[in-house]
Amino acid sequence: MVVFLRGCNFKCYYCQNYRIWGAALPVNSDALLREIQRNKDYVSALVFSGGEPTLRLNLLQLLAREAKNEGLLVGIETNGSCPEVLETLIAAQLLDGLFVDLKAPLSNPQKYAQIIGIANASTYVDKIKRAIDIGSEAIAAKRLVEFELRTTLFKGLLSQDEILEMVNEFKTVPYALQQGRAEMCARTDLTTLTRDEIAKLAVQCRRPLRIRTLEKGDEDIV
Ligand code: SF4
Repeated sequence: MVVFLRGCNFKCYYCQNYRIWGAALPVNSDALLREIQRNKDYVSALVFSGGEPTLRLNLLQLLAREAKNEGLLVGIETNGSCPEVLETLIAAQLLDGLFVDLKAPLSNPQKYAQIIGIANASTYVDKIKRAIDIGSEAIAAKRLVEFELRTTLFKGLLSQDEILEMVNEFKTVPYALQQGRAEMCARTDLTTLTRDEIAKLAVQCRRPLRIRTLEKGDEDIV
């Protein structure tokens, strides 16, 4: 079961969920709690996505606690900008899966800023590094079940060297290269990479990677 939370502190060039950046139909938290009850016998996990879910700590705690009480695993997809929220959830044993989106090499805050649509990304870059440290430490201490870094790719947005740098900076962390879908984006200047183009890139990275495409779903490239 995936809950998409509205609002985001980034405005990524290629956001595929830009429709939920702003206010829309509000859903009250009681309705979400009822939805967990309705679904709990048919799903194994509750995953928060967005938007940026870590902007809503109180709601995350409420829903994650309910999910854990019902025996579900809890995961979160995040841009990594709120490491303190991740720390809080892990400390409270309310998180099992952490999935952090890396947008560009962390050594290049200017490129990061360009992709996330923010003038100065230096502070965010430090926070994202902290989020990755938190995930790595929690996996080592067996306080998380799953930790994955992921990068969404479009033709020409990141160079091959930039992708190589990103995936090799965190060699010990599972990493997925995801196919961005141009038809899902507001901008019209983006081009979708094919599954074969992404697989070729993954092979050139010379480390185990997962690729995630519409054509073939998840595939491990070793
Ligand atoms: S962090 Fe995610 S939801 Fe937010 S703008 Fe970027 S792609 Fe969209």
